Amino acid sequence: MNFASKYVYDGNQDEYEYVSDDEYHAQLSVSDCSSDEEEPQVSQAAASSLKPENDKPKSFLERMKASLKLKKKTKKKDLDQQKDVNQRKGVRERRKHHWQRRRDETANAMDQRNLSSHPEGKRRFKKADTNVVSVTLNTLKDPSNMHAGDAVKCGGTGCKAIMSHLSKLTAGVSGKVWVCEFCGCNNEVDVEDGEIPAVEDVTFLLEAGLSTETAGTSGQDESIVVFCIDVSGSMGKSFEIPGRVHLRGFHSDGSADDRDVTHVTSLQAVKAAVDKQLEDLAKDHPNRRVAVIAFSDQLLVMGDGTTSQRTIFGHTLNDFKQLEMIGSELALPKPIKGTQHSLSKEIMKLYPTGFTALGPSIVVALGLASRYSGSKIILCTDGLANVGIGKLNSLSSISEENITFYNDIGEKAVEKGVSISVITIKCAETRLVQLGKLADLTSGQVNHVDPMKLTEEFSNILADRIIATNVTATFILHKNLVFLEEDTKEYVIVKNIGNATMETEITFKYGKKGTADTSEKKQEKEECSKGAMATNANQSSIDQSSTDTGATSGKSPTDTGATSDTAPTELPFQLQLEYIDTDGTKALRVLTQKRPVTQDRALAEEYLNLEVLGPYAAQACANLALRGEYSQSHGMALMNQRLAWRNTREHGQRSERKKYNKIFSKIRSVDQHVTSHQRNERSRFGRSYSDSEDEEDLQQSNASSQRKSRISKSKKRQQRTDEYTDEMASDVYNVKNMSSNAMLL
Ligand SMILES: [Zn+2]
Repeated sequence: MNFASKYVYDGNQDEYEYVSDDEYHAQLSVSDCSSDEEEPQVSQAAASSLKPENDKPKSFLERMKASLKLKKKTKKKDLDQQKDVNQRKGVRERRKHHWQRRRDETANAMDQRNLSSHPEGKRRFKKADTNVVSVTLNTLKDPSNMHAGDAVKCGGTGCKAIMSHLSKLTAGVSGKVWVCEFCGCNNEVDVEDGEIPAVEDVTFLLEAGLSTETAGTSGQDESIVVFCIDVSGSMGKSFEIPGRVHLRGFHSDGSADDRDVTHVTSLQAVKAAVDKQLEDLAKDHPNRRVAVIAFSDQLLVMGDGTTSQRTIFGHTLNDFKQLEMIGSELALPKPIKGTQHSLSKEIMKLYPTGFTALGPSIVVALGLASRYSGSKIILCTDGLANVGIGKLNSLSSISEENITFYNDIGEKAVEKGVSISVITIKCAETRLVQLGKLADLTSGQVNHVDPMKLTEEFSNILADRIIATNVTATFILHKNLVFLEEDTKEYVIVKNIGNATMETEITFKYGKKGTADTSEKKQEKEECSKGAMATNANQSSIDQSSTDTGATSGKSPTDTGATSDTAPTELPFQLQLEYIDTDGTKALRVLTQKRPVTQDRALAEEYLNLEVLGPYAAQACANLALRGEYSQSHGMALMNQRLAWRNTREHGQRSERKKYNKIFSKIRSVDQHVTSHQRNERSRFGRSYSDSEDEEDLQQSNASSQRKSRISKSKKRQQRTDEYTDEMASDVYNVKNMSSNAMLL
């Protein structure tokens, strides 16, 4: 459990910041270089004169790779840039945003403008703060202190807290009483002092592994890898690569011409890359089991290459249940060490033809892979799914059913501990925004790649091991706090994570409970005292001072209005992770911590941890972008950038500024897509779908306007999802699932 600040910020919920039109219409400006200077701002005039076509952002991966290549050149470039910067210093000062100026500068600037227009613009967004927690699931790789005995749960309605090292037992009327640190409920408990966990991080064993599923009886990794390979006609399209390239499995047939280029088809590239993986797996993981399913108009189920192949076609391709059954009844692939050569030979025989029965291939693959938790499906395609279930071909005919298909498959896979990775080959659109859900839900990877980069991507996917499955995270706050930006507005949240890899990181945003919720609180309190006893036990410092305790100890309910001077000085946080490890053992990890509270925003910001704020901001921006909430996504990026900027400029060391640059240049890769799409909308329709968004979001006073805005929101979302390019989908999914380590690369 990592906190974005040492302090819990107990601030006003309605703090807003204003964004000028210039800034709103420009992309996030973060310098890529390690220099402290921001890159020059693009003026509004310049920004709007850019044609959308020319404005197409480069893919995130492309830029990552380019930046690696350019690394050597950067030093010189830095110097040049610095010179440039110095020359334009005067100009640059004026181009700074108001929030980047020092206070005296701001006053000056406002004087100069004579306040003829609102200096801060008309758009406002909720000010970002440091109330963020992140959890890196690689902690599940090694269990913490095993705690003998069962977890003791709080009986308060809706509260799921477990007795922890923070808990204190007191004598009640008829036994021992534990006053929950989170909800304030009195629980009569039958435990000895020694049974209370002594440390903040404990693991409870729920169910010992009966069968070591993934590890197998041999103790070695026996999980299944299913390659679903697109062999539709489009895979036969050839592309030109410079130089004379010799692909595995292909004899030089003189296709390299005088211009010293080689013509390669996508399928040839895929075959060569899969073949290389078979070889590597046989060498490094000889007991893993590999199967191949090729799809075009029909499915060619090749299995492990040593058994007879099976063809599936016609009506069966529309029958989910039957496809699933076929998959689950397929012979279990034998370990790769014995099948590599025959499988490789079969793969080389594949040729491109017909359409793309992508959906059915995934269903069969899942049926097969479900037998071992920790198994992987790798889908490799270059075209739109257009045969059988899960069709995505023509916009008007994508039914609700075909869209939920990908959600359903993802959820089924997670249940079985199977991850699905999606690789799309650059050159055609595949509606990666839909396909990507498979990977997003199952902790797989999304890649939109050049065919010659396939080997690299396959290796990355196979190396990304699943360390725990069926992971559920329950996060509990003190009941005066609530989760923000989530479906629930409660102090307890349960998130179904599914598969965890070393890179999996989840984030939570919390805040102070709004005053409007007090009646709800009262009701909870009543239910709580019904379930538990009404003793007047000595309570922990937190509860003594908390407003709810005030109510039970005789104050009138109107006093729950809470005066700030009685607010708790420390608040507890608890994270519970229930999971199944690679040995099939079901366990519950419980982490509990206390954090001091401050009402001083500057103090909370002084202790900002960018490695927590970064992944949170990235996930939040990407989630909003996927929901088609472009202006909110852009606003989220801007507000968090300002927060990080304030910190790194006022307190930060040089190393922190570097972190800031790295993190926000990743976030920018989402923001670039978002803002350029909005610009594109404006250039086509004269306005962006979300131009009236602020009003919608801020003034949902009556039911009819709420309904209206819901309709327009779903319409907007539909429109925008339809226009999602594979490039954008790939960048957004990648940033959404980026760990803090990856953000700092
Ligand atoms: Zn409780």
